[in-house]
Amino acid sequence: MGLEAYNSKRDFLKTTEPSGSQKPAGASASRFVVQKHTASHLHYDFRLEMDGVLKSWAVPKGVPEQPGIRRLAVQTEDHPLDYITFEGVIPEGEYGAGRVEIWDSGTFVLNEKDSKKIEFALKGGKLAGSYVLIHTGEDNWLMLKKKGA
Ligand code: MN
Repeated sequence: MGLEAYNSKRDFLKTTEPSGSQKPAGASASRFVVQKHTASHLHYDFRLEMDGVLKSWAVPKGVPEQPGIRRLAVQTEDHPLDYITFEGVIPEGEYGAGRVEIWDSGTFVLNEKDSKKIEFALKGGKLAGSYVLIHTGEDNWLMLKKKGA
């Protein structure tokens, strides 16, 4: 996907979000972040470091902390790796206007990935265990925590 969509939506003279470029893959351990985004609609942005960018999903009800809970996750544009530490207020009138706070962060191990499914194990401050994202069509995915492990 690259970062064209990300960059085209933002005016970096107005927002303090990072403008960043894609990094070569495979250089560092894989990280994840969950950013609480108090925008026009509160949601949680879940991002996985993958292919030199942050693959991103907006999860309106938040990442499930217990098995058996299914949450809608809407894929959004890839974000630059520097976004993983971003916190701040995106100004009124700008894309995504509102407050961004880091809700959780840590590392993950990728277990399986194809066009329909991404399976991974999170090790964060709040989130831990095996998760799966299932592609259900268009930008929509379901996120759930697996039992055990
Ligand atoms: Mn967001």
